Amino acid sequence: MALEKHIEKVLFSDEVIAHRVNQLGIDITSDFSGDSEETPIFVGVATGACLFLADLVRRIDLPIAIDFIRAESYGSGTVSSGVPRVSFDLKLDITNKHVVLVEDIVDTGNTLSCLIEHMKAKKASSVSVCTLLDKPSRRKVHYKLVGKGKFYSGFECPDEFVVGYGMDFAEQYRNLSYIGVLKPEYYM
Ligand code: 5GP
Ligand code: MG
Ligand code: MG
Repeated sequence: MALEKHIEKVLFSDEVIAHRVNQLGIDITSDFSGDSEETPIFVGVATGACLFLADLVRRIDLPIAIDFIRAESYGSGTVSSGVPRVSFDLKLDITNKHVVLVEDIVDTGNTLSCLIEHMKAKKASSVSVCTLLDKPSRRKVHYKLVGKGKFYSGFECPDEFVVGYGMDFAEQYRNLSYIGVLKPEYYM
């Protein structure tokens, strides 16, 4: 209730998110079924993808591994602070493995392209991307997937700064169970 007072509007409700995440899980499971070579590694991009990753992997009906990576490009505000870099790296060895990068949102594409190049340098056999939200209208960098990697997207997001379901403003609001836009007085 207290948090709800900060929200101007809800863009994606709990129910809508759950339904879409379930479908993404079915799609990914089906695409990776029958590929007996390697267990895919789901790499959550911290911190924003935490809730999405947790829900998504429970919808994957295959043996998988889970790891995390962190890339920083944004400051505490709503505008990118420049070129992203990997600030916390993988624990697992991804050499000759299929990687599914799990992201909260792809905006300019800078972070994604940095992470894909990073996975490529580590010799992943394929890199797929599963992002909950995509803002194609804001794209500046066109990333290239690796090997037979695919791009999965939950929803197209309007060009607004969103919070919730893992996504923050100044490290807050990640714990909202839905995705919305803050009232202007809270973007300060
Ligand atoms: P990009 O490098 O594609 O410009 O930005 C990617 C990262 O910026 C996302 O993974 C996310 O952490 C952050 N970001 C981009 N747009 C939004 C937004 O609307 N809300 C929030 N909370 N973070 C965003
Ligand atoms: Mg992110
Ligand atoms: Mg952030």
